[in-house]
Amino acid sequence: MAKGIGAATSGNSHVGYKRVPLDPRMLRALITLHDRYGYKLRISELVGGVHGKNSRHYRGLSFDANFINGIHVGSGAPPQEGHDHNTHIHCA
Ligand SMILES: [Zn+2]
Repeated sequence: MAKGIGAATSGNSHVGYKRVPLDPRMLRALITLHDRYGYKLRISELVGGVHGKNSRHYRGLSFDANFINGIHVGSGAPPQEGHDHNTHIHCA
């Protein structure tokens, strides 16, 4: 992204390997969660990985976080956008 060439999707995803921009609204939400609310998130996926066919991940509109403030995200969240969320929280 810093080179202006977009973030890389995964070759085995529904959209194959390609470069997509990260949506400023998603980035703004991420920065707000950190700067305003003090959350420390470990982002496991932005546009990479395999998600649902029409997932917003593939358009740079989502992120997954698998640790929040150093605590691993556990099970219990319902499936969304084509994959389960036993190990992370999905934010779009
Ligand atoms: Zn997700």
